[in-house]
Amino acid sequence: MKLFCVTVLVYTLVGVQALLPADYFYSSCLTPIITNNAVADLVKEYDPEDYMSVYGTYCENQDIMVTLFDCMITSAEMSTEMGFSHAHRKLKSSYDTMRYYCKLYYGAPHTLNYQEITAAWNAAPKPFVNYYTANETLQLPFTVPKDVMAPLIAPAQGEGDSYYDTAQYSYWTLYYVVICVGLATIFNLLTWLMPKGAELTANSFLGRFVRRYITMAPLWNDRLARWTHFHSNRLPAFEIFGYFVMNYVMMSVNYRYIEGGEYASRAQAIGYWLGYRSGIMPMFKLPFLFFFAGRNNFLIWMTGWDYNVFSMWHRWLARFATLDVLIHWAAYSVGVATIPGELAEEWGLWYWIAGVIATLVMVIMCIQGSVWLRRIAYEFFLYTHIFWAILFLIFTWYHVVYVTYPMSTMYASFAVWGFDRLLRLIRMASSGVCTANITIGSDHVMVVDIVDKNPVRAYPGCHVFVYFMGWRHFYQSHPFTAIKTDTGLRLYIKSWNGMTKRIRKMALDNGGKITMKVIVEGPYGPPMNLKAFNELVCVAGGIGITAIYSHLSQRILSGSMSGQKVTLHWIVRNEEFFSTFAEDLKKFADAGIRIVLHVTGHSSAGPHSESSVASSSDAESKEKALENVSSQIYELENGRPNILEMVPLYMVNATGSLGFMTCGPASLNHDVRAAVSSNIYKTKRYVQCYEEGFEM
Ligand SMILES: Cc1cc2nc3c(=O)[nH]c(=O)nc-3n(C[C@H](O)[C@H](O)[C@H](O)COP(=O)(O)OP(=O)(O)OC[C@H]3O[C@@H](n4cnc5c(N)ncnc54)[C@H](O)[C@@H]3O)c2cc1C
Repeated sequence: MKLFCVTVLVYTLVGVQALLPADYFYSSCLTPIITNNAVADLVKEYDPEDYMSVYGTYCENQDIMVTLFDCMITSAEMSTEMGFSHAHRKLKSSYDTMRYYCKLYYGAPHTLNYQEITAAWNAAPKPFVNYYTANETLQLPFTVPKDVMAPLIAPAQGEGDSYYDTAQYSYWTLYYVVICVGLATIFNLLTWLMPKGAELTANSFLGRFVRRYITMAPLWNDRLARWTHFHSNRLPAFEIFGYFVMNYVMMSVNYRYIEGGEYASRAQAIGYWLGYRSGIMPMFKLPFLFFFAGRNNFLIWMTGWDYNVFSMWHRWLARFATLDVLIHWAAYSVGVATIPGELAEEWGLWYWIAGVIATLVMVIMCIQGSVWLRRIAYEFFLYTHIFWAILFLIFTWYHVVYVTYPMSTMYASFAVWGFDRLLRLIRMASSGVCTANITIGSDHVMVVDIVDKNPVRAYPGCHVFVYFMGWRHFYQSHPFTAIKTDTGLRLYIKSWNGMTKRIRKMALDNGGKITMKVIVEGPYGPPMNLKAFNELVCVAGGIGITAIYSHLSQRILSGSMSGQKVTLHWIVRNEEFFSTFAEDLKKFADAGIRIVLHVTGHSSAGPHSESSVASSSDAESKEKALENVSSQIYELENGRPNILEMVPLYMVNATGSLGFMTCGPASLNHDVRAAVSSNIYKTKRYVQCYEEGFEM
């Protein structure tokens, strides 16, 4: 399925290249040829004001086509004599443009292809009659005099190049993304297939340098990271910045206006050409926008980048695409406005209105997708975002269908989005409706045991999206880290203010336990090779323990912990939090994992006031759980650990390769990564840092 999805994506994007016309000679040849009596007489209902009306007739008339092709060959030779390069490529491109118009606008599917027209031209008896004789005798094919073509050739080069460059530049933006993703995939695969080789490369002088300053270091301080929602290392930021520079440099260069061509003035030509380029380039971003936002983005698995990185790419590509279409709109308006009365006429056309609406929708989506609005009301953001996306696709379709060239990117976008949704349905259906036994744990945590007869194939660290059946929330799906059990899956869910709070209240109202029907969709998330290190230090903040728990518990079960020294630092507000996990974490202690519990406060205050939902069963369950807590399991430390001091100690004392895994609030993840990267030169050992974030 995934392979099929990517095939559709690649196929349609590659297919579009052939559809982006770059004409150098065809339009110039068309005028003298269709006004010659030999052709005009053949073309029924020919309207001299409307060249388009003759396409249908001449496209499938071999003699006219040979005449046109001969004119293009002559023009190509003349262009070389005038000092312009790439005559052969331009000749082929011009012919393909003509064929494209013939097939598309006038339903002439049998127009000869380039090889066929070349063969037909070679086979035609020569010399052809000249233009003036043909005008009298109506003979075909004929030659077009050089002096008729001469003034048209130079201006047409600028125009053709502008269109040709647009196709090339659009492709380069695409290759750029492919290269970024490809390099990440190669390195990620190496860490699995040749962990020692990957370790040596990463620990080389260059490898350390790159990791110190790019692939491990946070972009900037925690506050700015929160503000910009850029919770990642510098690599995606640099890559996205590189894309930005490339996109807008390429959008601005190589417009060569030469007087005497189709456009009356430089402003008119640049307006149209820039308008065209800034309209095509965002279309090449479109499939990625949908692909990177999808849950079934198999690149997550290939690159090892988590959803947040792709989400970042999604957001920034969307912003660039919006800027592109604003430029597109402005540039075309300038170009069109140079022709008296044309702008008013365009505003009366449906395709123009549809384009304007699509642009406005994009602007709205950029604002509506801001991190603040997402944090305030995630579900509202999600569903309105989908609504706007559908609206955007509809209006873009009506706009693009008018010019037709970038339709393939539209098909690719539909395909990518459609397949993501289809795969989600298949994943849900394959697991079916399951029973979830929900028990209230300590400090706002619920333990959810899902009995899954066709279990999702959970792997360490994966997450699943869960739909809790019930009229108030069945349409919502929330991500939770999944832990494999004998009967299915276990989730630990901390309640916040939305759906999780409602479920908790239902359980509390039901005496601390409730059974619900759920649908599970997954598993998702990049696998991490934590086994590869001699020593592993896990740092969890609050409910972030679930990701680490998922990794370690499955390894303990499968007996693959041997030889690895593991320390778990868990930072919690109060000791009660621990009690829900006590039984499970005892297994960790038994397996030799050192657990250090950092208790930062004494209150059990959660993310929201519990007064309205607290009940005696809550207190009872806490008490019960607390009974199981054994101080033998962990070392207790009061207060927040100083991450910037703690992390380097491990690094300096490491006797072998050392991995850090962190999952907690963004600021904790940020600090761990910052500490590891800034101390990387303090040890000769190979050190790596992995993180899991719960913020979307
Ligand atoms: C990969 C991943 C794994 C996670 N694993 C766990 C886990 O094991 N245990 C756990 O308790 N929590 C986990 N979370 C967090 C959990 O998904 C959210 O806390 C939960 O969705 C909040 O639901 P709510 O309606 O009560 O949130 P609200 O009170 O409405 O919002 C609280 C926060 O959760 C975010 N949020 C709300 N809905 C969603 C959603 N559908 N998807 C993503 N974020 C959302 C909001 O932006 C906000 O920041 C995980 C998140 C991610 C991304």
